[in-house]
Amino acid sequence: METVIDMELKIVELTKTYGRKRALGGINMTLTPGVYGLLGPNGSGKTTLLSILTDNLSPTSGEVYLDGSPIHELGARYRKRIGYMPQHQGVYPGFTLGRFMHYMAALKGLKKIEAGESIEKLVGLVDLSDHMKVPLEAFSGGMKQRALLAQALLGNPDIILLDEPTAGLDPEERINVRNIVSDLGNDRIVVMATHIISDLSFGVKKLIFLKEGQIIHELMPGEIGEACPKTQTEVSPLEEVYLNIYGKTDDKK
Ligand code: ADP
Ligand code: MG
Repeated sequence: METVIDMELKIVELTKTYGRKRALGGINMTLTPGVYGLLGPNGSGKTTLLSILTDNLSPTSGEVYLDGSPIHELGARYRKRIGYMPQHQGVYPGFTLGRFMHYMAALKGLKKIEAGESIEKLVGLVDLSDHMKVPLEAFSGGMKQRALLAQALLGNPDIILLDEPTAGLDPEERINVRNIVSDLGNDRIVVMATHIISDLSFGVKKLIFLKEGQIIHELMPGEIGEACPKTQTEVSPLEEVYLNIYGKTDDKK
C-alpha cells in the first residue's frame, strides 16, 4: 500500500449554520496520519463536521486545507482521496453487494480490473465474500454497515471519514471493525465519529470531544491509554471522562 507520511488536514475556524441553527462554532484542528476519535452526543455536530471534511457540504465560514491547499479548490483531486462511510444506510436495496461495490467503484472512477481486485479484497476484509450475489435489502443492519465500510475503502483513499461505523453491529462485528480501523490509521488520516466509548479502546491518536459544535476537550496520546478500558468488564476511566464532560443524562449508547 502507498505510504503517505507527510499529510496534513488543517481545519481553521470552521463554522456551519443551518438557518438559525449553529451546528459548528469555530472548529480548529490539525490532523496527520492516525486514528482520531470524534466523540459527542447526538446533535453535537459530528456529522456536519465530517460532511464538510468530505467536501460535500460547504462551511458557513472557515476553511479546510489539505497540505496547505483549500479543499474546495482541490475539488475532485481532494475527493478522490477521501473514503466516506455515511451515518445513514441509504444504500441501494435492489442491488446485490457485488453490484453495489462495482457501482461505487465506478463512481470513484476506478478502472474495471482495478475495481474487481479491490472489491474482492475489501469484501473479504469485512467478511462478506459469500454475499456478493445477495441483495442489500436482505442484509442485516450489521452487514449493511460492513458493506458501507468496504465501499469507503475503495480506491485506497488516504483520508477516511467514518460516521458512527459501529452503529448496529454486534460485539464481534464491532471488534472486527475496530481492528480494521486501527490498521488503517498506520498511514492514513482516519476520523471516526462515535458515541460508543468502547470503540475507542484501541490505538487512537487523539480523542476530540464535541459539544454543541465546539471542541470542549481533547485527550492526547498517553492520556488515552490510561483512560481506555483494559478489559470488557472493567469500569472504563474513559467512560468517566465522558460522563464528567457531558453529564449522566446524555445518551451515549
Ligand atoms: P451529530 O452527528 O453529532 O448528531 P449533526 O451534525 O447531525 O450532529 O447535527 C448538529 C446540529 O445541526 C443538530 O442540532 C442538528 O439538528 C442540526 N442539523 C444537522 N443537519 C441539519 C440540517 N440539514 N438542517 C438543519 N439543522 C441541521
Ligand atoms: Mg451524526
